[in-house]
Amino acid sequence: MKRNSPALKQRALGQIESLIVLAQDASLGDLSRRYIRISRKIAERMDITIPAHLKRRYCKNCNTPYSHGSQVRLKNGLVTVKCLNCGDIRRIPYKPSH
Ligand SMILES: [Zn+2]
Repeated sequence: MKRNSPALKQRALGQIESLIVLAQDASLGDLSRRYIRISRKIAERMDITIPAHLKRRYCKNCNTPYSHGSQVRLKNGLVTVKCLNCGDIRRIPYKPSH
């Protein structure tokens, strides 16, 4: 079987999605960071881009899901999300049409 076939990628994407969704549970603590780390590794290995709606759910810097503590602000048409674990700030363009 060919590595990185579309079917395999599809399956990996499903795994990535469920790991990130699972990680949103704040009671998991460090385990959730591990879930995010694993899902990012799968994406890297399979050459998959994690969909934007999932990428927005964790801190790229420390892999902590934003559901565990973050500050969200709307400023000048940008959504600013601050990770309360490492202090990393992300700016996401805010599109009213979405
Ligand atoms: Zn962080």
